[in-house]
Amino acid sequence: MLDAIASAPGVSRAGVAARTGLTKATVSTVVDRLVTASLVREHGQERRSGPGRRGTSLSLSPDGPCGLGVEIGVDYLATCLVGLTGEVRGEWTRHRDNRDLPPEQVLSRVADALAEALADARRQDVTVAGVGVAVPGLVDTASGRVTVAPNLGWQDVDLAAEMHTRTPELPGQLVVGNEANLAAVAELHALRHEPASPSSFVHVSGEIGIGAGIVLDGTLFDGLHGFGGELGHFPVQPRGPRCSCGARGCLERLAGKDAVLDRAGVDDVDALVAALDAGDSTARAAVRAVGRVLGSTLSAVVNLLDVPTIVLGGVYARLHPWLSEPLSAELGDRVVGAPRRRVEVRRSVLGGEAAVRGAAAAALRTVLTDPDAYVLRARQAESRTTSSVGSRMDGGNGSSPAS
Ligand SMILES: [Zn+2]
Repeated sequence: MLDAIASAPGVSRAGVAARTGLTKATVSTVVDRLVTASLVREHGQERRSGPGRRGTSLSLSPDGPCGLGVEIGVDYLATCLVGLTGEVRGEWTRHRDNRDLPPEQVLSRVADALAEALADARRQDVTVAGVGVAVPGLVDTASGRVTVAPNLGWQDVDLAAEMHTRTPELPGQLVVGNEANLAAVAELHALRHEPASPSSFVHVSGEIGIGAGIVLDGTLFDGLHGFGGELGHFPVQPRGPRCSCGARGCLERLAGKDAVLDRAGVDDVDALVAALDAGDSTARAAVRAVGRVLGSTLSAVVNLLDVPTIVLGGVYARLHPWLSEPLSAELGDRVVGAPRRRVEVRRSVLGGEAAVRGAAAAALRTVLTDPDAYVLRARQAESRTTSSVGSRMDGGNGSSPAS
């Protein structure tokens, strides 16, 4: 029923019954519970012309719970709070290099960032229904373990257990996923509001590492173990520079963020964009070279999967104006089907925020698929708050003694 309401905002109770095949009586009982739990909002009259009885229209509640997204980037940490109707209630990025640190230290930073975001949610009086974490590595999503994250130097880190230990008051369910996959799903949802939006595409997250999220017919394809889409380790130069994965000449060593900044002779992406805007020839040549390498690798992807669209995300979204021409030229030369059907190269709608938004959405998804569990947790939390309100007021900021 929540899916039916989410996919057709403004739908009536009768409309929900028709979409789900449930009786109107059942729909009414369940809708009442969803409204009480602030998951669904009832308002106005159904937008409908012609004769017949008009029902009240239903939509997901903008005052309902939020998902809290966390992204562990290679050189940043990001968090965001996103509501049921997609509104962003808060977004924070901290630029910090997480490479070559033991996982424990990065996890302490994550716990600090999480505590800040949770405090902000409390200030806004927003219920956090769950937490999603995006990681630049291979994730066993069932257990929440990170199998390997080469650019972080992580091997078999039990991220879910670590997060529960460090943040005992972690609200709702915890979801851990690969950043490129979460970004692609977030982009899929964002694209639905765009004209001529594709339902099949490869979303390329260009950061220090390069990840791809493959969306086919509106569904993420991430392989048998969820380990698919590791575009960054596509072999480009068999004797090229050593990669964090142990191999040589991987795409991300030649076309990742560090590689393009190095070639352009600048320190950060802002400086690179400024140089490109100013027509700096070194910067433009650097981005052209990266566009060609990226294009030739992506031509293999398109030849293999026959996807019509490449979406440039992460840093590549900002570089799109300079990157798309050399990239498209390579695709035109190398994609066998290109003479019949040109491959579209478009800029990501969400840009660098796609992964953290996707993580928040994944957390919210746990509410939509199991609202009963959420309602139960919310009731328990409320009774705990009521019984401990005296000590909370004495204690000040509400932080747990264990943190
Ligand atoms: Zn590699």
